[in-house]
Amino acid sequence: MANRDRATNQLAEFSKTLAKPDTLTTSTGAPVDNKTAILTAGPRGPLLMQDFAFTDEMAHFGRERIPERVVHAKGAGAFGYFEVTHDITKYSKAKIFEHIGKRTPLAVRFSTVGGESGSADTARDPRGYAVKFYTEEGNWDLVGNNTPIFFIRDPMLFPSFIHTQKRNPATHLKDPDMFWDFITLRPETTHQVSFLFSNRGTPNGYRHMNGYGSHTFKLVNKDGEAVYCKFHYKTDQGIKNLTGDQAAELSKSDPDYAIRDLYNAITEGNCPTYTMYIQVMTFEEAEKFRWNPFDLTKIWPHGEFPLIPVGKMVLNRNPKNYFAEVEQIAFAPAHMVPGIEASPDKMLQGRLFSYPDTHRHRLGTNYLQIPVNCPYNARSRNYQRDGPQCVDDNQTGAPNYFPNSFSGPQDTVKAAQQTFHVSGDVQRYNTADDDNFTQVGNFWRNVLSEYDREHLIKNIAGHLKDAQEFIQKRAVHNFGQCDPEYGRRLSAALDAYKVQRHGASAAANL
Ligand code: NDP
Repeated sequence: MANRDRATNQLAEFSKTLAKPDTLTTSTGAPVDNKTAILTAGPRGPLLMQDFAFTDEMAHFGRERIPERVVHAKGAGAFGYFEVTHDITKYSKAKIFEHIGKRTPLAVRFSTVGGESGSADTARDPRGYAVKFYTEEGNWDLVGNNTPIFFIRDPMLFPSFIHTQKRNPATHLKDPDMFWDFITLRPETTHQVSFLFSNRGTPNGYRHMNGYGSHTFKLVNKDGEAVYCKFHYKTDQGIKNLTGDQAAELSKSDPDYAIRDLYNAITEGNCPTYTMYIQVMTFEEAEKFRWNPFDLTKIWPHGEFPLIPVGKMVLNRNPKNYFAEVEQIAFAPAHMVPGIEASPDKMLQGRLFSYPDTHRHRLGTNYLQIPVNCPYNARSRNYQRDGPQCVDDNQTGAPNYFPNSFSGPQDTVKAAQQTFHVSGDVQRYNTADDDNFTQVGNFWRNVLSEYDREHLIKNIAGHLKDAQEFIQKRAVHNFGQCDPEYGRRLSAALDAYKVQRHGASAAANL
């Protein structure tokens, strides 16, 4: 027993919580007399349709699976609270930030992006970092990643981008040509790809990585004044990454490494915490900023927009049941609360629609009634009714139309969004060349250590070597535009693979 971790020992721990086992029942609550033998006419069968204990279970068993998430299918969840440590009420009237010391319950789901629900936790992939805050004015979901940026800046490209991270439609295999073809044809991906192939692309579990809301949001205070904002979480456990080799080894020996690590840490009372910061940009600064402040492939430099501390996120409870509380949890960037609003960020705007839409498909029309999703610190009162899997009281006898004279819920002007002005000609704007390389060059030169650069080159080359040569050349060209040394070193690493493959004679022709 001594060498079993807490996750492996879960069943033994559960059994200690019961004085004696419950009586087994059907799903209607009727006791079951025998769980190991089906009702049959004679010892050799056939069996009887009247055996409800059997048909009840088999029919349910055949329906156990719900659609897997199209992205972020593999993940780990945890629960805890957010505590305000610094006053930001001058920026936002959101209840969650009301006063120092205020605690708001929350749920978190960390995940990989591209793999299926059985894929390895240590795959090179961004990590989803989604937080649901159960505030008194409704649930606020901050649905980000462990990177402050993303691959693309126009949501029109999103389905194609994700297809290239998944399986080839003919072979059902991961495909280096698909991956690198898209990446190199859309050089706005270069910043995120440089994060992805650095060792931060293989974090050592979920406790040792930072999180980011990634998008630009808008904060609005009680006087209706607004600023743009970015959210950051810094891990209080310190950053720890795996090398590419360590990650590959763990994907064989413990594909569930990150889920296990989080579960064990929380069970042992070693509760992970993360400090939330915001960056703030005024509307005037946004007008003058040298980059588009709503471009998800760009960061806001800390030197110009310093991190402002806000509070602490503490994870202190594991899910009681994975399916109920993690598989069914449904995050959506559209789930916002008064004081936190959308910015014009095109990627954010695209996600506002698609997340609730996919939840309705995956979990059903009433997915917000599922306990882990329902706004239990507020009350959902509206004119929506019925639909499949309505499991609450369906708002009893309250009127289901508006306006009405019978005490139905009333709208409140206090919840009005900040008034803002937009102008511009309606068209499809091509953003492909919107400075894809300056920030990546800064990252390469000023942020990465020599150790980081060596690993970045090794990790990219180890993957890119399997793509066709013309695609490799395009990649070298793109990385070289960030910094000539970046391109040169990548080219040399790819050449070394060619030598390995074709021998020294080929090297002479390189
Ligand atoms: P700063 O030097 O002020 O900030 C650099 C940031 O990089 C810090 O947040 C640090 O996070 C993070 N960082 C350090 N090492 C790595 C790494 N190996 N991989 C990824 N991130 C790392 O610079 P700027 O704000 O001017 O940004 C310069 C560049 O840094 C950007 O172009 C971007 O590529 C990168 N960056 C910027 C972030 C931002 O929001 N401004 C956030 C993350 C990266 P920590 O201290 O927690 O390790």
